[in-house]
Amino acid sequence: MRKVEYRKLPHGTEQIGTLGIGTGGLVNASDEEIEYAISKAIDNGINFFDLCAWASNVFAPFGRAIKGRRNEIYFQLHFGAVYRNSQYGWSRDLDQIKQTFAWEMQQLGTDHVDFGFLHCVDESEDWEEIVSGGILQYVQELKEQGVVKHIGFSSHTPSVCNRILDTGIADMMMFSLNPAYDLECGDEYGIGTTLERARLLRRCETMGVGVSVMKPFHGGQLLDETTSPFRKKLTTTQCLQYCLDRPAVLVALPGIRNVTDLDLLLTFLDATPEQRDYSVIGEFTPQTAVGNCVYCNHCQPCPAHIDVGLVNKYYDLALAGDNIASDHYDKLKVKASACVQCGRCEKRCPFKVKQMDKMAQISRYFGK
Ligand code: SF4
Ligand code: SF4
Repeated sequence: MRKVEYRKLPHGTEQIGTLGIGTGGLVNASDEEIEYAISKAIDNGINFFDLCAWASNVFAPFGRAIKGRRNEIYFQLHFGAVYRNSQYGWSRDLDQIKQTFAWEMQQLGTDHVDFGFLHCVDESEDWEEIVSGGILQYVQELKEQGVVKHIGFSSHTPSVCNRILDTGIADMMMFSLNPAYDLECGDEYGIGTTLERARLLRRCETMGVGVSVMKPFHGGQLLDETTSPFRKKLTTTQCLQYCLDRPAVLVALPGIRNVTDLDLLLTFLDATPEQRDYSVIGEFTPQTAVGNCVYCNHCQPCPAHIDVGLVNKYYDLALAGDNIASDHYDKLKVKASACVQCGRCEKRCPFKVKQMDKMAQISRYFGK
Protein backbone atom coordinates (compact mmCIF):
# COMPACT_ATOMS: atom_id res chain seq x y z
CA MET A 1 0.00 0.00 0.00
CA ARG A 2 1.33 3.45 -0.91
CA LYS A 3 1.43 6.29 1.56
CA VAL A 4 -1.74 8.34 1.35
CA GLU A 5 -2.08 11.31 3.66
CA TYR A 6 -5.51 11.57 5.26
CA ARG A 7 -7.06 14.77 6.57
CA LYS A 8 -10.03 14.95 8.92
CA LEU A 9 -13.19 16.74 7.88
CA PRO A 10 -13.47 19.53 10.48
CA HIS A 11 -17.26 19.11 10.90
CA GLY A 12 -17.17 15.33 11.00
CA THR A 13 -15.15 12.22 11.65
CA GLU A 14 -14.29 11.33 8.05
CA GLN A 15 -10.60 10.92 7.28
CA ILE A 16 -10.24 11.96 3.65
CA GLY A 17 -7.29 10.95 1.48
CA THR A 18 -5.66 14.05 -0.02
CA LEU A 19 -5.53 12.50 -3.48
CA GLY A 20 -9.03 11.93 -4.80
CA ILE A 21 -10.44 11.22 -8.25
CA GLY A 22 -12.82 13.17 -10.47
CA THR A 23 -14.72 10.63 -12.55
CA GLY A 24 -16.20 12.90 -15.24
CA GLY A 25 -13.29 12.19 -17.63
CA LEU A 26 -14.18 8.49 -17.67
CA VAL A 27 -17.11 9.30 -19.94
CA ASN A 28 -15.49 7.54 -22.91
CA ALA A 29 -14.02 4.58 -21.02
CA SER A 30 -15.53 1.09 -21.14
CA ASP A 31 -17.48 -0.25 -18.15
CA GLU A 32 -14.68 -2.75 -17.48
CA GLU A 33 -12.01 -0.04 -17.45
CA ILE A 34 -14.06 2.20 -15.13
CA GLU A 35 -14.67 -0.61 -12.66
CA TYR A 36 -11.01 -1.62 -12.76
CA ALA A 37 -9.76 1.98 -12.36
CA ILE A 38 -11.98 2.66 -9.33
CA SER A 39 -11.03 -0.65 -7.69
CA LYS A 40 -7.36 0.05 -8.31
CA ALA A 41 -7.69 3.56 -6.86
CA ILE A 42 -9.28 2.16 -3.68
CA ASP A 43 -6.63 -0.58 -3.45
CA ASN A 44 -4.04 2.23 -3.43
CA GLY A 45 -5.67 4.05 -0.52
CA ILE A 46 -7.73 6.61 -2.46
CA ASN A 47 -11.05 7.05 -0.67
CA PHE A 48 -12.66 10.18 -2.11
CA PHE A 49 -14.43 10.54 -5.47
CA ASP A 50 -16.42 13.17 -7.32
CA LEU A 51 -19.42 11.86 -9.23
CA CYS A 52 -21.26 14.04 -11.68
CA ALA A 53 -24.24 13.16 -13.85
CA TRP A 54 -22.48 14.40 -16.96
CA ALA A 55 -20.59 11.05 -17.01
CA SER A 56 -23.73 9.00 -16.44
CA ASN A 57 -22.02 5.85 -17.75
CA VAL A 58 -19.72 5.89 -14.71
CA PHE A 59 -22.42 5.26 -12.10
CA ALA A 60 -23.17 1.57 -12.68
CA PRO A 61 -19.53 0.37 -12.92
CA PHE A 62 -18.63 2.66 -10.00
CA GLY A 63 -21.40 0.97 -8.01
CA ARG A 64 -19.97 -2.46 -8.87
CA ALA A 65 -16.45 -1.35 -7.86
CA ILE A 66 -17.60 -0.19 -4.40
CA LYS A 67 -19.88 -3.18 -3.75
CA GLY A 68 -18.82 -4.64 -0.40
CA ARG A 69 -16.43 -1.69 0.11
CA ARG A 70 -18.90 1.14 0.60
CA ASN A 71 -17.54 1.92 4.06
CA GLU A 72 -14.01 2.35 2.64
CA ILE A 73 -14.91 5.35 0.49
CA TYR A 74 -16.65 8.73 0.36
CA PHE A 75 -18.11 10.49 -2.62
CA GLN A 76 -19.67 13.80 -3.45
CA LEU A 77 -22.76 13.92 -5.63
CA HIS A 78 -24.16 17.04 -7.31
CA PHE A 79 -27.77 18.19 -6.94
CA GLY A 80 -28.41 20.25 -10.04
CA ALA A 81 -26.45 18.16 -12.50
CA VAL A 82 -29.14 16.05 -14.14
CA TYR A 83 -29.28 13.17 -16.53
CA ARG A 84 -32.17 12.85 -18.96
CA ASN A 85 -32.58 11.14 -22.34
CA SER A 86 -28.98 9.91 -22.06
CA GLN A 87 -27.76 13.51 -21.92
CA TYR A 88 -26.12 15.57 -19.17
CA GLY A 89 -27.90 18.75 -18.29
CA TRP A 90 -27.87 21.44 -15.69
CA SER A 91 -31.10 22.17 -13.91
CA ARG A 92 -32.73 24.02 -11.05
CA ASP A 93 -35.96 22.06 -11.53
CA LEU A 94 -36.66 20.17 -8.32
CA ASP A 95 -38.55 17.28 -9.95
CA GLN A 96 -35.74 16.65 -12.42
CA ILE A 97 -33.21 16.78 -9.61
CA LYS A 98 -35.21 14.28 -7.58
CA GLN A 99 -35.53 11.92 -10.56
CA THR A 100 -31.80 12.10 -11.25
CA PHE A 101 -30.98 11.47 -7.63
CA ALA A 102 -33.22 8.37 -7.48
CA TRP A 103 -31.59 7.06 -10.67
CA GLU A 104 -28.07 7.71 -9.34
CA MET A 105 -28.74 5.91 -6.06
CA GLN A 106 -30.18 2.93 -7.91
CA GLN A 107 -27.19 2.76 -10.27
CA LEU A 108 -24.72 3.08 -7.40
CA GLY A 109 -26.50 0.50 -5.24
CA THR A 110 -26.15 2.60 -2.11
CA ASP A 111 -28.52 4.14 0.42
CA HIS A 112 -26.51 7.21 1.33
CA VAL A 113 -24.39 10.02 -0.08
CA ASP A 114 -21.43 11.27 1.91
CA PHE A 115 -21.48 14.79 0.48
CA GLY A 116 -24.57 16.25 -1.20
CA PHE A 117 -23.39 19.21 -3.27
CA LEU A 118 -25.42 22.13 -4.55
CA HIS A 119 -24.09 22.12 -8.07
CA CYS A 120 -22.21 24.91 -9.81
CA VAL A 121 -23.42 27.92 -7.83
CA ASP A 122 -21.52 30.55 -9.78
CA GLU A 123 -23.92 33.49 -9.76
CA SER A 124 -25.92 35.06 -6.96
CA GLU A 125 -29.05 34.26 -8.98
CA ASP A 126 -28.09 30.55 -8.91
CA TRP A 127 -28.08 30.63 -5.16
CA GLU A 128 -31.41 32.47 -5.04
CA GLU A 129 -32.97 29.85 -7.35
CA ILE A 130 -31.61 27.03 -5.22
CA VAL A 131 -33.25 28.52 -2.16
CA SER A 132 -36.53 29.66 -3.75
CA GLY A 133 -36.90 26.49 -5.85
CA GLY A 134 -36.81 24.22 -2.79
CA ILE A 135 -33.53 22.52 -3.74
CA LEU A 136 -31.72 23.53 -0.58
CA GLN A 137 -34.67 22.43 1.53
CA TYR A 138 -34.75 19.06 -0.30
CA VAL A 139 -31.05 18.42 0.39
CA GLN A 140 -31.50 19.52 4.01
CA GLU A 141 -34.39 17.05 4.38
CA LEU A 142 -32.21 14.29 2.96
CA LYS A 143 -29.61 15.23 5.54
CA GLU A 144 -32.17 15.01 8.35
CA GLN A 145 -33.11 11.53 7.08
CA GLY A 146 -29.45 10.48 7.09
CA VAL A 147 -29.40 9.95 3.32
CA VAL A 148 -27.01 12.87 2.81
CA LYS A 149 -24.33 12.99 5.48
CA HIS A 150 -22.90 16.45 4.76
CA ILE A 151 -23.99 19.40 2.63
CA GLY A 152 -21.54 21.10 0.32
CA PHE A 153 -21.52 23.23 -2.80
CA SER A 154 -19.40 23.73 -5.88
CA SER A 155 -18.55 27.15 -7.23
CA HIS A 156 -15.90 29.07 -9.14
CA THR A 157 -16.84 32.48 -7.72
CA PRO A 158 -15.41 33.74 -4.40
CA SER A 159 -18.18 36.32 -3.81
CA VAL A 160 -20.89 33.65 -4.20
CA CYS A 161 -18.91 31.21 -2.06
CA ASN A 162 -18.83 33.83 0.68
CA ARG A 163 -22.56 34.32 0.41
CA ILE A 164 -23.19 30.61 0.91
CA LEU A 165 -20.62 30.39 3.70
CA ASP A 166 -22.55 33.16 5.49
CA THR A 167 -25.48 30.74 5.92
CA GLY A 168 -23.36 28.19 7.79
CA ILE A 169 -24.96 25.24 5.95
CA ALA A 170 -21.80 23.91 4.31
CA ASP A 171 -19.31 21.37 5.59
CA MET A 172 -17.45 21.24 2.27
CA MET A 173 -16.82 23.54 -0.69
CA MET A 174 -15.59 22.43 -4.12
CA PHE A 175 -13.53 25.21 -5.67
CA SER A 176 -11.40 25.61 -8.81
CA LEU A 177 -7.82 25.98 -7.70
CA ASN A 178 -4.38 25.94 -9.30
CA PRO A 179 -1.38 28.30 -9.53
CA ALA A 180 -2.66 29.94 -12.73
CA TYR A 181 -6.03 30.81 -11.20
CA ASP A 182 -4.47 32.01 -7.96
CA LEU A 183 -1.98 34.21 -9.80
CA GLU A 184 -4.68 35.73 -12.05
CA CYS A 185 -3.36 34.03 -15.19
CA GLY A 186 -6.22 31.57 -15.75
CA ASP A 187 -9.36 31.35 -17.83
CA GLU A 188 -13.01 32.15 -17.11
CA TYR A 189 -13.02 29.71 -14.18
CA GLY A 190 -10.18 31.48 -12.39
CA ILE A 191 -12.44 34.08 -10.82
CA GLY A 192 -11.34 36.59 -8.19
CA THR A 193 -8.12 38.35 -7.38
CA THR A 194 -5.23 36.59 -5.69
CA LEU A 195 -6.17 38.24 -2.43
CA GLU A 196 -9.90 37.41 -2.66
CA ARG A 197 -9.09 33.79 -3.34
CA ALA A 198 -6.58 33.59 -0.50
CA ARG A 199 -9.06 35.22 1.89
CA LEU A 200 -11.79 32.78 0.88
CA LEU A 201 -9.63 29.77 1.71
CA ARG A 202 -8.57 31.30 5.00
CA ARG A 203 -12.23 31.90 5.83
CA CYS A 204 -13.04 28.25 5.08
CA GLU A 205 -10.25 27.19 7.39
CA THR A 206 -11.48 29.46 10.17
CA MET A 207 -15.05 28.14 9.76
CA GLY A 208 -13.99 24.50 9.53
CA VAL A 209 -15.31 24.10 5.99
CA GLY A 210 -13.21 21.59 4.04
CA VAL A 211 -12.25 22.31 0.43
CA SER A 212 -12.17 19.80 -2.40
CA VAL A 213 -10.29 21.04 -5.44
CA MET A 214 -11.42 20.94 -9.04
CA LYS A 215 -9.20 21.83 -12.01
CA PRO A 216 -5.86 21.36 -10.19
CA PHE A 217 -4.05 21.23 -13.58
CA HIS A 218 -5.99 24.13 -15.18
CA GLY A 219 -7.64 21.61 -17.52
CA GLY A 220 -4.21 20.12 -18.33
CA GLN A 221 -2.83 23.44 -19.58
CA LEU A 222 -0.27 23.74 -16.80
CA LEU A 223 1.28 20.41 -17.80
CA ASP A 224 2.47 21.60 -21.19
CA GLU A 225 4.76 24.56 -21.81
CA THR A 226 2.95 25.48 -25.01
CA THR A 227 -0.37 25.88 -23.17
CA SER A 228 0.83 26.90 -19.71
CA PRO A 229 0.07 30.60 -19.11
CA PHE A 230 3.52 30.76 -17.50
CA ARG A 231 5.19 29.31 -20.62
CA LYS A 232 6.75 26.77 -18.30
CA LYS A 233 5.21 23.44 -17.56
CA LEU A 234 4.53 22.06 -14.11
CA THR A 235 4.13 18.38 -13.25
CA THR A 236 0.95 16.83 -11.92
CA THR A 237 2.79 16.28 -8.63
CA GLN A 238 3.76 19.97 -8.33
CA CYS A 239 0.21 21.09 -9.07
CA LEU A 240 -1.30 18.65 -6.59
CA GLN A 241 1.12 19.66 -3.85
CA TYR A 242 0.37 23.32 -4.54
CA CYS A 243 -3.36 22.70 -4.02
CA LEU A 244 -2.85 20.60 -0.91
CA ASP A 245 -0.74 23.36 0.67
CA ARG A 246 -3.56 25.90 0.44
CA PRO A 247 -5.56 26.58 3.64
CA ALA A 248 -8.63 24.37 4.27
CA VAL A 249 -7.92 22.02 1.37
CA LEU A 250 -8.66 18.40 2.23
CA VAL A 251 -8.50 16.75 -1.17
CA ALA A 252 -7.56 17.46 -4.78
CA LEU A 253 -9.79 15.85 -7.38
CA PRO A 254 -7.95 15.56 -10.70
CA GLY A 255 -9.98 13.88 -13.40
CA ILE A 256 -8.91 10.64 -15.07
CA ARG A 257 -9.85 9.37 -18.52
CA ASN A 258 -8.49 5.86 -18.11
CA VAL A 259 -6.20 3.61 -16.08
CA THR A 260 -3.08 5.20 -17.62
CA ASP A 261 -4.12 8.58 -16.17
CA LEU A 262 -4.72 6.93 -12.81
CA ASP A 263 -1.25 5.35 -12.85
CA LEU A 264 0.31 8.77 -13.49
CA LEU A 265 -1.59 10.28 -10.57
CA LEU A 266 -0.56 7.44 -8.27
CA THR A 267 3.09 8.44 -8.72
CA PHE A 268 2.21 11.44 -6.53
CA LEU A 269 1.98 9.08 -3.57
CA ASP A 270 5.64 8.08 -3.93
CA ALA A 271 6.95 11.52 -4.89
CA THR A 272 9.98 12.92 -3.06
CA PRO A 273 9.98 16.39 -1.46
CA GLU A 274 12.09 17.60 -4.42
CA GLN A 275 9.51 16.35 -6.91
CA ARG A 276 6.75 18.08 -4.92
CA ASP A 277 8.65 21.36 -4.79
CA TYR A 278 6.79 24.01 -6.81
CA SER A 279 8.86 27.02 -5.78
CA VAL A 280 9.51 27.58 -9.51
CA ILE A 281 6.19 29.44 -9.57
CA GLY A 282 7.93 32.18 -7.58
CA GLU A 283 9.49 33.16 -10.91
CA PHE A 284 6.10 34.09 -12.31
CA THR A 285 4.31 35.35 -9.22
CA PRO A 286 2.72 38.69 -10.14
CA GLN A 287 3.03 41.78 -7.99
CA THR A 288 -0.49 41.37 -6.57
CA ALA A 289 0.40 38.02 -4.99
CA VAL A 290 3.80 39.01 -3.67
CA GLY A 291 4.23 39.35 0.06
CA ASN A 292 1.07 37.55 1.23
CA CYS A 293 1.74 34.53 3.37
CA VAL A 294 -0.77 31.78 2.53
CA TYR A 295 0.47 29.47 5.34
CA CYS A 296 1.56 26.78 2.89
CA ASN A 297 4.81 26.03 4.75
CA HIS A 298 6.59 25.56 1.47
CA CYS A 299 9.46 27.39 3.15
CA GLN A 300 10.12 24.55 5.63
CA PRO A 301 12.32 23.32 7.15
CA CYS A 302 13.18 26.19 9.46
CA PRO A 303 16.38 25.58 11.42
CA ALA A 304 14.78 27.19 14.48
CA HIS A 305 11.78 24.80 14.13
CA ILE A 306 9.29 27.63 13.71
CA ASP A 307 6.03 26.57 12.08
CA VAL A 308 6.16 29.59 9.78
CA GLY A 309 2.70 29.07 8.27
CA LEU A 310 0.98 28.64 11.63
CA VAL A 311 2.73 31.59 13.25
CA ASN A 312 1.62 33.79 10.34
CA LYS A 313 -1.89 32.42 10.48
CA TYR A 314 -2.35 33.17 14.19
CA TYR A 315 -0.92 36.65 13.61
CA ASP A 316 -3.33 37.42 10.76
CA LEU A 317 -6.28 36.03 12.72
CA ALA A 318 -5.32 38.07 15.80
CA LEU A 319 -5.09 41.21 13.65
CA ALA A 320 -8.55 40.39 12.30
CA GLY A 321 -9.90 40.40 15.87
CA ASP A 322 -9.92 36.67 16.63
CA ASN A 323 -9.13 36.53 20.40
CA ILE A 324 -8.59 32.78 20.42
CA ALA A 325 -5.72 33.17 17.94
CA SER A 326 -3.57 34.82 20.63
CA ASP A 327 -4.24 31.90 22.98
CA HIS A 328 -3.23 29.46 20.24
CA TYR A 329 -0.08 31.47 19.59
CA ASP A 330 0.74 31.42 23.32
CA LYS A 331 0.57 27.63 23.29
CA LEU A 332 3.11 27.27 20.46
CA LYS A 333 6.31 25.68 21.72
CA VAL A 334 8.42 27.69 19.27
CA LYS A 335 7.42 31.27 18.70
CA ALA A 336 8.46 33.95 16.23
CA SER A 337 11.09 35.21 18.66
CA ALA A 338 13.11 32.04 17.97
CA CYS A 339 13.87 33.27 14.44
CA VAL A 340 17.63 33.42 13.87
CA GLN A 341 17.18 35.54 10.70
CA CYS A 342 18.87 32.95 8.50
CA GLY A 343 16.72 33.85 5.47
CA ARG A 344 16.23 30.27 4.28
CA CYS A 345 12.46 30.58 4.25
CA GLU A 346 12.63 33.69 2.08
CA LYS A 347 14.59 31.83 -0.58
CA ARG A 348 12.01 29.04 -0.74
CA CYS A 349 8.81 31.09 -0.51
CA PRO A 350 6.94 31.14 -3.88
CA PHE A 351 5.17 34.32 -2.78
CA LYS A 352 8.33 36.20 -1.87
CA VAL A 353 7.19 36.91 1.68
CA LYS A 354 9.80 38.85 3.65
CA GLN A 355 9.61 36.46 6.52
CA MET A 356 12.62 37.73 8.47
CA ASP A 357 10.96 41.13 8.95
CA LYS A 358 7.64 39.41 9.53
CA MET A 359 8.98 37.24 12.35
CA ALA A 360 10.36 40.32 14.12
CA GLN A 361 7.02 42.08 13.62
CA ILE A 362 5.00 39.10 14.93
CA SER A 363 7.30 38.72 17.90
CA ARG A 364 6.82 42.39 18.77
CA TYR A 365 3.05 42.13 18.33
CA PHE A 366 2.60 39.19 20.68
CA GLY A 367 5.36 40.42 22.99
CA LYS A 368 7.27 37.13 22.59
S1 SF4 B 1 6.37 32.36 3.99
FE1 SF4 B 1 5.82 31.71 1.92
S2 SF4 B 1 6.29 29.53 1.83
FE2 SF4 B 1 6.27 30.12 4.01
S3 SF4 B 1 4.21 29.70 4.71
FE3 SF4 B 1 4.21 31.83 4.04
S4 SF4 B 1 3.61 31.77 1.87
FE4 SF4 B 1 4.17 29.70 2.43
S1 SF4 C 1 14.53 33.34 8.73
FE1 SF4 C 1 13.64 32.74 10.69
S2 SF4 C 1 11.71 31.79 10.19
FE2 SF4 C 1 12.92 31.85 8.29
S3 SF4 C 1 13.91 29.84 8.20
FE3 SF4 C 1 15.33 31.27 9.20
S4 SF4 C 1 14.93 31.04 11.38
FE4 SF4 C 1 13.19 30.12 10.29
